Amino acid sequence: MSDSTAVLLRRRQALVKKLAGLEPLILRGSLIERYKRCGHPGCKCQQGQGHGPKFYLSVSQSGSRPEMDYVPEEYSQQVSDYLLNFQAVRQLLEKICNINRALLRRRVKF
Ligand SMILES: [Zn+2]
Repeated sequence: MSDSTAVLLRRRQALVKKLAGLEPLILRGSLIERYKRCGHPGCKCQQGQGHGPKFYLSVSQSGSRPEMDYVPEEYSQQVSDYLLNFQAVRQLLEKICNINRALLRRRVKF
């Protein structure tokens, strides 16, 4: 049994609503942690893994090297959340597209 057109339209409406809430809260890329040695003679970082973690947002651009943006620690959680939101937005778009495809097959105006 496939869902009725009314059900599909209602489901799409709910997805669009979720999407609208997330749309401004997205970032694409990945959050990278780095530890750095400062180079000061005698600093404890010479022995250990280095100072850090320092966070960077790495965004790959087609055809060129990834761009790295430094992320202050107090923003790292937000950036992490926004990256997850981007995945969620992608999934919502995919679901909306699937519904629209179903509507197209039914020759429903959508
Ligand atoms: Zn150091």
